Amino acid sequence: MPRRNVPPESLELTSEQMRDMVDRAMDRIVPWIETIGEQPMHRLDKAHKLARALREPLPEGGVSFRRILGQLFERVLPMSLNTAGPGYLAYIPGGGLFHAAVADLIADATNRYVGIWAAAPGLVEIESTVIRWFVGMVGFPATGGGVLTSGGSIANLTAIVTARHTLLGEDFLRGTIYTSPQAHHSVRKAARIAGFPDANVREVPADGAFRLRAAPLEAALAADRAAGFTPAIVVASAGTTATGAVDPLAELADVCARERLWFHVDAAYGGFFQLTDRGRAALAGIERADSVTLDPHKGLFLPYGTGGLLVRDRDGLRRAHQVSASYLPPAQADPECWDFADLGPELSRDPRGLRVWIPLKMHGAATFRAALDEKMDLARDAAARLAALPGVEIVSEPTLSLFAFRVAPPGVTDPATVDAFGRRVLTGVNARQRVFLTGVEVDGRHLLRVCVLSFRTHAAQIDALVEDLGAAIVAAHRASDEGAENGAAPPDPRVAGPDGAVRS
Ligand SMILES: *Cc1c(COP(=O)(O)O)cnc(C)c1O
Repeated sequence: MPRRNVPPESLELTSEQMRDMVDRAMDRIVPWIETIGEQPMHRLDKAHKLARALREPLPEGGVSFRRILGQLFERVLPMSLNTAGPGYLAYIPGGGLFHAAVADLIADATNRYVGIWAAAPGLVEIESTVIRWFVGMVGFPATGGGVLTSGGSIANLTAIVTARHTLLGEDFLRGTIYTSPQAHHSVRKAARIAGFPDANVREVPADGAFRLRAAPLEAALAADRAAGFTPAIVVASAGTTATGAVDPLAELADVCARERLWFHVDAAYGGFFQLTDRGRAALAGIERADSVTLDPHKGLFLPYGTGGLLVRDRDGLRRAHQVSASYLPPAQADPECWDFADLGPELSRDPRGLRVWIPLKMHGAATFRAALDEKMDLARDAAARLAALPGVEIVSEPTLSLFAFRVAPPGVTDPATVDAFGRRVLTGVNARQRVFLTGVEVDGRHLLRVCVLSFRTHAAQIDALVEDLGAAIVAAHRASDEGAENGAAPPDPRVAGPDGAVRS
């Protein structure tokens, strides 16, 4: 292998080099953020070409940071969904508060260890303070605790492992888990990783508003007990991904108390609406859960990689995860000093508490409450204005900030025709590049959905949504009429597929 004849550069940068690197990065980041609302909502037309160009062997020598930044900002980053943009109303929108990026710079540059309390007591205490704030927000008692995770999926996994360990011990293959068909797929994934047979996850049919209810749940529990299973865990959703439905948490808490089941609430999307009056009313009963999944990278507008699990009894969380090792310092004796390595699957990890703590300390809860209230208002306004467009039927009203709807051509009721028309409208809206929506299949029908959760989304984006959806309906009618005259639907030249997947 050819080697350069110069000594390798030092990995320790000089103060000038550090400042220069950050300044150069900022010279790219600031204009990027300042134009984020003008960037296209999706640009994936040459994705494979880009992917091929990026594949290369491990380089032996280096290139300048300037060149790397150019490649990133001119070629790599633009080829993407604009998940942090104000018009992104698809899936669950991403945030990306800049405060968090600075927090990560501090955390990564100082690189302290937060897996063990004794290694960085102050930083660990900052993270447990964040958890205690959340524990208070959901209404858990002082025995509550938790851990910040990479996201909702790992939080759901950690909850299911804790429930399994607490209720079933090591012989759990007859243990069963109950949720609705609307639950997030990470629940089924978590159950599988936790060792449950796939078939032990029961999908209890939801009601007409897509909610898990007590009566069918109790019927499923009785049938399973009669068949020799051990019902163990109920997973309720506080805001489903498809339609935004919030399960009746108090009603399900009653069932779990009576039947001695673990009550987990997946509030990855909806949890932080608990900061608002309307959210607290919708989520009433969450304080009776055994565990709650939250995603600060959704409802607190933080960058991806920030999730959390809260538990009513942090000793149970610790018992489910604690394994000692001779090379680690002894666990903390003071129950108020938490070793995060004992509260979840991770030992080493990023000090993710800092990126939650800094924005909350700088702005206070009031700013986040106001932003979340605004998102709820925007979703209600959007649903009301879309409902006034021809053929639009709101299938799931916004409880929090997410709703689902259908669009039918006049006089048409045939489900397949209506679904095809809806897909065409969705494609037309996304082709306009001002807002981005995704669709979803629910009970065999195609629905369009709007989720307002970016801190950057304001009234202007809802105006654009209403305008573009109206225009897309008109265009879809025209295309249907032409299709009827020609005996076939014309090919659609536009870019986004029905599921929001974008093709060239
Ligand atoms: C987003 C989401 C998840 C998964 O969370 P990740 O952070 O993407 O791992 C789980 N449940 C619900 C309801 C969600 O909205």
